[in-house]
Amino acid sequence: MSYRINPSTKPGWIELITGCMFSGKTEEFIRRIRRYRYAKQKVIVFKPIIDQRYYEDKVASHSGMIVDSIPVASTKEMLDIINKETEKIDVIGIDEIQFFDEAVVDAVSELADQGILVIVNGLDKDYRNDAFKNVDRLLFMAEYVDKLAAICYVCGGNANRTQRIVDGVPAKKDEPLVVISANEKYEARCRHCYIKPS
Ligand SMILES: [Zn+2]
Repeated sequence: MSYRINPSTKPGWIELITGCMFSGKTEEFIRRIRRYRYAKQKVIVFKPIIDQRYYEDKVASHSGMIVDSIPVASTKEMLDIINKETEKIDVIGIDEIQFFDEAVVDAVSELADQGILVIVNGLDKDYRNDAFKNVDRLLFMAEYVDKLAAICYVCGGNANRTQRIVDGVPAKKDEPLVVISANEKYEARCRHCYIKPS
């Protein structure tokens, strides 16, 4: 992160980490959360219940970095947990924010207004190359945006798109967005190698 905090800056802002799959978003997210935990700040991390790839109460990167998190089914459930907290919260992390309901964006903004540093992580585009909800609004609302690129699986160039592969070929656009399937995988691809699903 390249910004410098002016000592007179009041606490409370939004940091968005975004990009395509395999861009290292989750590692960057975990790295930032850990810095505040090492400093004994009060940090809470949330993730949507939809993502059960690794551990239910952890955020895990593909490379194995892990941080404790609370799985929630909705923005309301997240706010209920925050409001019950008696200790002052310094930092809130939210992973996979594109899978939360749309109330999360206003909630994030209100938490930042209250003086909390909110670090959010999410994909900016789905595999059809359409904008993901929540991240689309946070791209202009956040004070700090880090948009990370991956390496194209086909040509080795800079990749900012995610190609969904089902049974060895690019998925069609009408296939369900979330499928747990052994024959499904994702590849980071550049503008030129990406094939728009038809
Ligand atoms: Zn390419």
